[in-house]
Formats: sequence, C-alpha cells, structure tokens
Amino acid sequence: MDEMDMRRDEMSGKKRQGTLLILSAPSGAGKTTLARRLGQALGDGCLFSISYTTRAPRGAEQNGVDYHFIERPGFESMIDAGEFLEWAEVHGNFYGTHRSYADAARDHEVVVFDIDVQGGEQIKRKHPEAVSVFILPPSGEELARRLRSRGTESDEAVERRLLAARQEIERGEACYDYLVVNDDLERALADVLAILRAESCRRAR
Ligand code: 5GP
Repeated sequence: MDEMDMRRDEMSGKKRQGTLLILSAPSGAGKTTLARRLGQALGDGCLFSISYTTRAPRGAEQNGVDYHFIERPGFESMIDAGEFLEWAEVHGNFYGTHRSYADAARDHEVVVFDIDVQGGEQIKRKHPEAVSVFILPPSGEELARRLRSRGTESDEAVERRLLAARQEIERGEACYDYLVVNDDLERALADVLAILRAESCRRAR
C-alpha cells in the first residue's frame, strides 16, 4: 500500500477491503506465467489461494504449495462439511477453493484465485464485488500452436483441449468483468495491474 492509499484510508476512517481477483484462462493462454509475474509485482500485499485437488501432483509440484493434494473421499467430505467457497470438476478431477480465502481480503490488498470459469462464476455469485479477469490467447491459431508445441500429448488429446478451450473462452467472454489478451506478457501484466488499481479506487470499496 502506498502513501496515497494510506491517506485515503485515514480520510475515510475505514479499513478498505482488498480485492478478490478471479483469474481464469483456457490452457495455453499463459495464465501461470502471468500469475507468477503478478505475484512478483504485488509482493506481500498479495495472497494466492491454494486450491484442493484430487488430481495427482505433476513434476515438481509440492503439497501445500501448488495445491493441497487430497483423495476423492476427503474432497467429498469437505463438500459435505461446506468447506468450499466453490468447487468444480475440471478434466475429470475435482478442484476446490477453501472458504477461508473469502475473508482474507480483510488482511490483503489482493487475493488471487487461479480457477476455471465454473469456479469463477460461483465466487461471483457469492461475492459480487469480486473482480473477474479472463485471459485470452492472442488468437485461435496461436492457442493451437502453443498447445501442440508442448509435444507431450497425442493429436487427439490436443484436439480435446482445443475444444474445451474454445468453450471456456465463450463462457469467459460472456460473463467475466474484464478480458485481457496475452499477446505480450508485460502488456498483459500492466493491464491486470491497471484493473486492480482502478478497482481499488471504487467508491464502494
Ligand atoms: P491444472 O490441473 O492444470 O493445475 O488446472 C486445471 C484447471 O483447473 C485450471 O483451469 C485451473 O485454473 C483450474 N483450477 C485450479 N484450482 C481450482 C479451484 O480451486 N477451483 C476451480 N473451479 N478450478 C480450479
């Protein structure tokens, strides 16, 4: 928080709520890199929600850092106990955000949710003040090129991901507050920071 923000808080006599930032994108849009750069730019004022998932860890992913990896029965118990702010099935696995993150905006400037569109819609319904940003790849051709260049999947799997990406883009375009095209990482980052800056100046906040 800079000096100007503090003065504004003093003048209003209130503690401002941080922003709940929903960040969604189809796979291949460069969301992970953008989220990492956003974390560096915002520093300590920013909290990333660590989701629960039933999918197995990939590569160097660590439990409690990248995700809380959990078995399906444990996830289902958490659903029954009402512990999730939102949850969804994505590519055959369950993913969910713990409800404690909704309160984290009291102590953080920004709370980032890197989740899919189904989850983003659920958070928006419960917290209409949340800000949703959908990251778009520069074009359909570029998205296809990025997905194919990973080289780890069969043609059929790439086609499936492309179809899912197109459906996700349609939904994101229809219901997200902001669309940011990731054709240049630095520009996309500047766009997201500008959105956060403008949102922090909202009268309601
Ligand atoms: P991945 O398995 O590649 O890490 O993530 C697959 C998709 O699940 C991504 O679109 C990611 O944003 C989404 N995702 C990750 N965590 C959550 C969550 O807690 N809730 C929802 N709804 N989606 C999530």
